[in-house]
Formats: sequence, structure tokens, C-alpha cells
Amino acid sequence: MIRVQSVAPDSIGGELGLAPGTELLAVNGRPLEDFLDWEFLTADDRFLLAARLPTGEAVEYDIERPEGLPMGVTLEPPRIRRSGNHCDFCFVDGNPDGLRAPLYIRDDDYRLSFRYGNFATLTNLKPWDMERIVEYRLSPLYVSVHATDPTIRRWLLRNPEAPDIIPQLGWFAERGIAFHTQVVLVPGVNDGVELERTLAALYGLGPAVVSVSVVPVALTEFSKHSLVRELTRDECRAALAAVDRMATRALAERGAPWCFGADDLYLQAGEPLPGPAWYGDFEQRENGVGAVRFLQTRIAAAVERLPDLAGKRIGVVTGRAMGPLMPQVLADVAATTGGRFELVVVENTLFGSSVTTAGLLPGAAIERALGDRRDLDFVLLPAEAVNDDLVFVDDVSADELAERLPCPVHLSYDFADVLGELGSGNAEVGTGDHSSAFRVPRSALEMSQMSRSQRCTMASKSDRCRRYSASMAAVSSSSHLSRKSFSTSSYFCSGERAVRLSSMAVFMALSFCSSTSMSR
Ligand code: SF4
Repeated sequence: MIRVQSVAPDSIGGELGLAPGTELLAVNGRPLEDFLDWEFLTADDRFLLAARLPTGEAVEYDIERPEGLPMGVTLEPPRIRRSGNHCDFCFVDGNPDGLRAPLYIRDDDYRLSFRYGNFATLTNLKPWDMERIVEYRLSPLYVSVHATDPTIRRWLLRNPEAPDIIPQLGWFAERGIAFHTQVVLVPGVNDGVELERTLAALYGLGPAVVSVSVVPVALTEFSKHSLVRELTRDECRAALAAVDRMATRALAERGAPWCFGADDLYLQAGEPLPGPAWYGDFEQRENGVGAVRFLQTRIAAAVERLPDLAGKRIGVVTGRAMGPLMPQVLADVAATTGGRFELVVVENTLFGSSVTTAGLLPGAAIERALGDRRDLDFVLLPAEAVNDDLVFVDDVSADELAERLPCPVHLSYDFADVLGELGSGNAEVGTGDHSSAFRVPRSALEMSQMSRSQRCTMASKSDRCRRYSASMAAVSSSSHLSRKSFSTSSYFCSGERAVRLSSMAVFMALSFCSSTSMSR
């Protein structure tokens, strides 16, 4: 059973009289367990919906659905599948006290993996989950592999029950499910020869493994430093060499690199990033792979829309990790606009100085850094540092922060979003759908939608998928679940998502975001 949270007025749900609190019980006699059932089973042109109204009255609707017309139903947030693992590098363990409650959730949920690209370990799948993944064609999934040797993987996950990942992925691959995978590199455990073995084993699964990212483990001041450490520069270089060897082979045999080092791996190794063409479609950009190049690509694509900022002084807030990489990005924007961009690198006072991502910057630290900056015409803040309610990790809202600062501020994912709006004179306009004065940057929404449609391969060969896609997009436009795939996810997956944030994860964030990675 799933429950309605809200209903859009001009929608099928509104016409039916569905109200918040209505229990959605079954479609065509099939019980509804969660949002996936709802979205998949209501994608047909016609279906029977059994529901129980808040009054307790049981009703059944015979729904004929014109193509493209949304159900308009926003569901209550799903119960998140918790992780059964206990990784030494788990970011949740590295959280200080006093953060938003969701940031303490160790999620490991294949549904969020499909929907938002969150990495899952697949260690908690039940047989019916596996059948469901195949039936709904939840592909590609994002999987934290770390190591393909079962003993090493169990050790990394601190889970003696973790299934052997290669047969597990192979089973799905035979049934048409594809994967983006990642290896979080822990020195002395899954690097060196083990990394080579893992890459070879994943490569051996064929095209079902679409990509592999290798990201260096990152720790906060609160992590279990007695059990795990970060990589040295030489270890990062060795890992990049292994990545390069595999990428060279993949390029020769399959025409694409397939295996990628995270931007942070290059940063820590002190080696230059590959050019944008290396990353193809930037498929793991949300995991900090090609994030910098993607940002530069976005800026280049927006050149026409960027305003003349000659004589303006613009602050750009970021975390420490992006400090060394940002100048090359800012140089592009400055050359195009004539503005003077100043990087404001903010130390994370909440998690400690070892957490360098912009996505986890607390509002209080930003306030301290900008408190006396009356000289700036305006400041771009990392939009991925706030959740859907526009609240920073330390519960300071973006509006509160703006009131306390002496200069105007904008939330931005990639420069092009806010600067493009400034060029059109719209940047000061509120969003209209909440009380904040802040806009949700447009390009972020566009990219969110693009990302969803790219991922919608569920039943992709049939006409049904076309309808499913349309309904998913329509429903999600009003859905708590998917308004912004990146920051919405932070509601649900503090374990993985915060980790991925720390790994420069959210690609749009990358303009400001850092690089470390501590994923599963
Ligand atoms: S890192 Fe991920 S898989 Fe490991 S314990 Fe934390 S939430 Fe679970």
C-alpha cells in the first residue's frame, strides 16, 4: 500500500477526487508496494485502481488515461531500504552530531539506484527484488562493487553475507540489465593487484557493465581512522595507471574508455584531467567522474546567453577540493563575460577540514566567509549544498543566510544557470512554488529531467515505455521524489548520497563541488 501526499489540481488524480491520505491499494488487482509499482502499473492507457479514501471508504476507479495526461499524484516518501553493511569508510559514521536526520540514514536501495543513480551494493536483495528488477527492467543500475574477490568485498563492506558480485551481476546481465559500477579505493585492501583483478572481472561481464569509476576513499575527522586511511599521492598515481591500462584496452576493443578515474583521483595524484571527449556522455559525472570537464562543456554551450559583466566583481563559493581546479573553469567564464570572478574557498567547520566538498558546506561557514564582503556585486553559492527545502546541512536556510550577508547571493549549479538568467534579467525572480526568494536554477532542472529520461529504459523496447516515460516525467514534475534528482536524493540517502557528495558527486555541483569519495 502507498499513500497520496498531494494531488495536482488539473490532473486525473484531481478529477477523481483523490485526496492527501488516500491509500492506493492495487492496480488491476496487483497490490502496490511502492512508487515503482505505481509508476509502472499506471502507465497503461486503461487500468483499474483500488483505493481507500481518508474517510475509510473503499473505492475502485476504472481509469482511461489520455496519453500524456498526468495522474498528478505525489506519493508519500518511500521507506528507504537500509544498508546491512558496516563499511569502515561509511560516511554516516563520519557525520558529526546535529545534522539533518536523513543524513544519518545508511541507505542501500536498488529503487533509488535506478531512479536517482544512487550507488547500491545489491547485498540486501531478496529473490522478489531480483525478479522485480528484471520485470520492470530497472536498467541501468548503479552498483558499488569495490572488489570482485568475494572475501575482499565482504571485508570492505563488513558484511559476511554479501553475495559474490560477479555471478550476481552476471545473472542480471543475462536478463538484460546493465550497470554503471564504481570501485571506492581503500589503500592496502582493493588497490594494486586487486584493482587490476576487479577491473578485469567487470570487463569480462561484457557490455552489461557500461562503465566503471575508480574513486579514492575519503574520510572526515569523525571517520574510523584507526581502520582506514586515505590514499597517498603515489597510490593515486598507481591506481590511475591501472585505470589507463584498462581504458586503453577498452578503447582498442570496444571503442570507448569504459574505465574512468574520478576527478579527485587525478587531483590527489597531481595529474591533469583528460579532455572532455574522454568522458563521452559523462555518464558518471554525478560520481565526480569528468565533472570538471562537464562543467566547462556546459559553460561553453551557454556562451551566447552569458551577460556582459564588465566591471562586476563576482564571488564564487566552493569547498577546498575544487580550489585547485576552479581557476581553469572561472577563466572561461571571465573571458566570456568580462567579469572579475573571485574564488571564495570555504573550510568546512562542521565536518572538519578533511571534508572538502562544496556540497556539504554548512551555511554558517559560508556566512563567516562572506560576512564582510560588501565589495562583491553578487556571489554564486553551490546549489547542491542545500536540500529541496533550500536548507544547508546545518539547518541554516538559504533565505536566512541571504538576509545575513552584505551582498546578493544566488544558488547555482554550473554558472551558466544563474549567469544565463542574469543575462535575460530573470535571476531575481522567485520560483513561485515556495516562499523562498531563491530560484531553482533552470539548467539544473533541465539536466535533472535529462538524467531521468536517460535512465528510463524500463521496458524500453515497447510502446509501454514511451507512455511510462511520459507519465514518470509528468508525475515527477510535481513529485517530492524527483523534482531535483540530486538534492532530493539527499533526503533519502545520506549514507550513499552524502558520500557521493563528498566525492564531488553531484555533477552540477561540480562547479563548486569537491572531489572525495567515500561511497559504498
Ligand atoms: S558506505 Fe554505504 S554500504 Fe557501506 S555501510 Fe555506509 S551506507 Fe552501507
